[in-house]
Amino acid sequence: MLSVMTALVDTHAHLCDPAFDSDLAQVLERAAQAGLSAVIAVAENLQDAVKTLELAASHPMIRPAAGLYPTILDMELARQMRDFIRGQKDKLAAIGEVGLDYWKVQGESDREIQREIFRGFIALGGELALPLNVHSRSAGRPAAALLLEAGARKVQLHAFDGKAAAALPAAEAGFFFSIPPSILRSEQKRKLARALPLSSLLAETDSPVLGPAPQERNEPANALVAVKAIAELKGIREEEVIEAVSENAIRLYGDSFRKPHQ
Ligand SMILES: [Zn+2]
Repeated sequence: MLSVMTALVDTHAHLCDPAFDSDLAQVLERAAQAGLSAVIAVAENLQDAVKTLELAASHPMIRPAAGLYPTILDMELARQMRDFIRGQKDKLAAIGEVGLDYWKVQGESDREIQREIFRGFIALGGELALPLNVHSRSAGRPAAALLLEAGARKVQLHAFDGKAAAALPAAEAGFFFSIPPSILRSEQKRKLARALPLSSLLAETDSPVLGPAPQERNEPANALVAVKAIAELKGIREEEVIEAVSENAIRLYGDSFRKPHQ
């Protein structure tokens, strides 16, 4: 058990996923047992966002986010989501998940729509002072470039799959990179965690996916798996990593994430 004041946060999970419908309370209990103080629960669409806010109302550990998944190329849905976020801003920890996906979206005109929608969420983040919880599959470099160009300041790049060389300028600009438990089976993630300074790292799970074993349901308690892997790679103690990623989560998401662990 942890003795220091920690606020270990799973900074990216999909708790509205039906995979958690039957045992969410136990899943969160295991997360608390593992030393987590909060889980940022992202949403991919309006239905997700409504469900996630409902879940957060009955589970204080859940800190809801709302966003539109980047493969949804619909300006009207993006507008509706921006309106929803404005209306619920006091309850939201972040805007997410939003971003770019050049793996699924290949055509240049489709990618332009995607960038336009992303720019809208970046601007909204600035307007409401809400952090952005960003997806960037096969689009690490362009997503980081677009965020820098748009003047985004509070940014988490989740499950970044680009090269460390593409990540470093973004880290220098103050963006954070969250590491999922799938680091155990990803050389790219290990390179990233090794190259980035501890001051730029966060823990995440992307539950129910990106777990230690690909076929098994992932859950927030596994944020500790990512922490352990980072400690091993950097040759430092696990407690040091917990302290750093906890402080980083507070720097990005605010003081309400500072909570003594019993
Ligand atoms: Zn996700």
